Amino acid sequence: MTQPTMQFIDLKAQYRALEEKIKARIDAVLEHGHYIMGPEINELEGKLSEYVGVKHCITAASGTDSLEIALRALNIGPGDEVITVPFTWISTAEVIAQVGARPVFIDIDPVTYNMNVDLLEAAITPQTKAIMPVSLFGQMPDYERINTIAARHNNIPVIEDGAQSFGATQYGRRSCGVTTIGSTSFFPAKPFGCYGDGGALFTNDDHLAETMRAIRTHGGLQRHHHPYIGMNGRLDTIQAAILLAKFDSFAWEVERRQDIGARYTELLSATPGSRSFPPGFSPPCIAKGNTSVYAQYTIRSQNRDGLAAYLKEQGIPAAVYYPKCLHEQPAFAFCNYHMGDFPESEKASREVLSLPMHPYLTNDDQNKIVASISVSFEPEK
Ligand SMILES: *Cc1c(COP(=O)(O)O)cnc(C)c1O
Repeated sequence: MTQPTMQFIDLKAQYRALEEKIKARIDAVLEHGHYIMGPEINELEGKLSEYVGVKHCITAASGTDSLEIALRALNIGPGDEVITVPFTWISTAEVIAQVGARPVFIDIDPVTYNMNVDLLEAAITPQTKAIMPVSLFGQMPDYERINTIAARHNNIPVIEDGAQSFGATQYGRRSCGVTTIGSTSFFPAKPFGCYGDGGALFTNDDHLAETMRAIRTHGGLQRHHHPYIGMNGRLDTIQAAILLAKFDSFAWEVERRQDIGARYTELLSATPGSRSFPPGFSPPCIAKGNTSVYAQYTIRSQNRDGLAAYLKEQGIPAAVYYPKCLHEQPAFAFCNYHMGDFPESEKASREVLSLPMHPYLTNDDQNKIVASISVSFEPEK
């Protein structure tokens, strides 16, 4: 009998667990036929705004569209600067360029991989129109400090790219609910995923909420009246239905992620002698006051590529997020950055490796992964 192959993120196991609910919800949409902006959209926006603890949730077609809608609603465009990090998924900076503004990168903190807030103030100029930190791998950067700095500089709006952190908390406050605007993604592999593309925006600001709602729908809230240049950025009703079917299990899934993450860290921190991990190897570190949803469980190793190859041989899927920083991408050549400008981001991109992580990961599989990592480092006899 062949062993089932280990999954990096096991969406099928989740589907099997929730199959009846998901099918019933999809069926309801097929029956009522409101595929665009059907009643599930409102229902989901209500549930999610309550979950995050903010007044408004505006769903969107993806976590990239949602970021772009946020920038457009803040009227950001040519001549403006938006401060973000170069160690993230392309979307974060792509949308800044998409609206005609300039991404200004600052380096990350090597322990959390999030924005090094010590570098923030020096990057602010009269052109800075927003700060867009990323809550990478499932935990938030220090928003208390980021918000304080932003407030000191004429209340620069802060947009959290929470595509990887939906469900995470910082001193008890939920991701997407602690900044001027929070944005998340429902891409299937994200902690809260649908079965296609999807995203959402969160805010307590009534005016921004209305503007973002309008921009999402061709720049207007009434038919044939378009005050803004907008986009077709709506979430499909069927995707909202799928998210509603998954919503009741999400709290349990977040708990599972935290338990599995904690177990990984415990096993991967075993004292030398019982297991061997070379210098420069480290499991992820969750900052004080934070909980993580572990969108990725990301370790670092100076022999990252060797380790990845060894795990692959053992049938263990691992992935590199991200092998290149954004200032290394040709698309951002116009920003005129060079190798060496962001040393911690560059180092992380060469050393990080993400291990299988999902709520249905078994202890057996986890033991196998940890044992393989340990063996891969055993000195040659
Ligand atoms: C996934 C992701 C996005 C974009 O989300 P999509 O829904 O795929 O468009 C943006 N930022 C970060 C950090 C992401 O991981």
